[in-house]
Amino acid sequence: SVRTRFAPSPTGYLHVGGARTALFNFLFARHHGGTFVLRVEDTDEARNTEAARDAIFTGMRWLGLDWDEGPQAGGSYGPYFQSERLAIYDKWFDVLRAKGRVYEDGGAWRFRFERKKITMNDLVCGEVTINYEDESNTPDMVVKRSDGSYVFHFVNVVDDLEMKITHVIRGEDHLMNTPKHLQLFEAFGAPAPLYAHIPLILNGDGSKMSKRDEGAAVGDYPRQGFLSEGVVNFLALLGWSSKTDEEIFTLFQLVERFSLENVNRAPARFDPEKCAWVNQQHLLKLTPEAFAAAARPFVEGAGLPVDGAYATAAATVKDKVRLLQEVPEAIGFLLQDDFAYETEALEKVKGNAQAPALLAALAAAFSATTDWSAETAKHAIGETAKAAGAKPGQLMFPVRVALSGKSGGPDLGDILGLLGRERSAARVTRLVE
Ligand code: GLU
Repeated sequence: SVRTRFAPSPTGYLHVGGARTALFNFLFARHHGGTFVLRVEDTDEARNTEAARDAIFTGMRWLGLDWDEGPQAGGSYGPYFQSERLAIYDKWFDVLRAKGRVYEDGGAWRFRFERKKITMNDLVCGEVTINYEDESNTPDMVVKRSDGSYVFHFVNVVDDLEMKITHVIRGEDHLMNTPKHLQLFEAFGAPAPLYAHIPLILNGDGSKMSKRDEGAAVGDYPRQGFLSEGVVNFLALLGWSSKTDEEIFTLFQLVERFSLENVNRAPARFDPEKCAWVNQQHLLKLTPEAFAAAARPFVEGAGLPVDGAYATAAATVKDKVRLLQEVPEAIGFLLQDDFAYETEALEKVKGNAQAPALLAALAAAFSATTDWSAETAKHAIGETAKAAGAKPGQLMFPVRVALSGKSGGPDLGDILGLLGRERSAARVTRLVE
């Protein structure tokens, strides 16, 4: 059965590229009813930190990429930290030694390549042939350093072998390492897994995305108000497509649809605008209650009063925000009377000579409205405009600015209904004063 693994080196936070690799391995394993392994490649002690390790675990759990075997999960092929597997590496090193495939070179040990052409059949990149005939182009590689530690290529192959990995799905930056890995599998007398090298991720400007680029750290996404399903969805679109018009998928739907055939060869583009759009599509799917609950920490974090009116207020912007972090700004005026006017919106009202008289008349009409509702309030706006020989539309904008301080936002009827008669009238009066 299918066994995949994500094998991060914990040298920094979990970044978009790593998370995408983890996701594709997860999806492929789940699609085939297989096993998804997490293996921590922490042999480079100087660069590995516990914080980095925890960030990987936390990030993967947040995304819902639960691993079947690995740290915290256990499994029959552990330990799952390379730093704890030295005895296993020594054992396989002895195999190479017994076969005469390694030789000492100044205290370090080199692996003797077979001098021939190596052809790989990558599941994404297709057939790639590397010529190992010329020793000067492909010198024998060090597998064991003079301090006794093993290099990446060696431990990576030993672990894929020991952990019975059937499919290695990893970034294209490892494509040229693969012939080395195939040579090692052959020397061990073990069948190699199948390889799928997934495309690089580029920034909007075409440069290679690095760990320092904006949007690179998966740990930053929850704070900005991305839903994990939104992040999973846009990660999937970095190199994979459904080959239909559909782009919005839950993790479950991705598991159903994912295949390596639909992974593109061309580099993927990381577009923050698209990420936010994808997130919005997932926010749209939430019930008003679930949306309010998800936005609550952001609203509280902004110091706004979260009272009985909160859930209804939040629901008015459910279909308008792309990220949950936009919610406090979008509904602050519904939760407290103290808000600032957008300069431009205010200027526009001030530039309308009719506005003060219209607003004064409206405040009076509001106060006289007995059965207050969104409908009766809007009716009052229409009547006030009509009485002054103006169109209702001419009054809508000043009213919106009076009530919210903004030129855009929730439906005006929703605002009027939520604020109620007194507060609506008071805000209209406040703008003309
Ligand atoms: N530790 C390696 C990396 O982070 C793993 C490469 C692989 O997946 O084989 O790039």
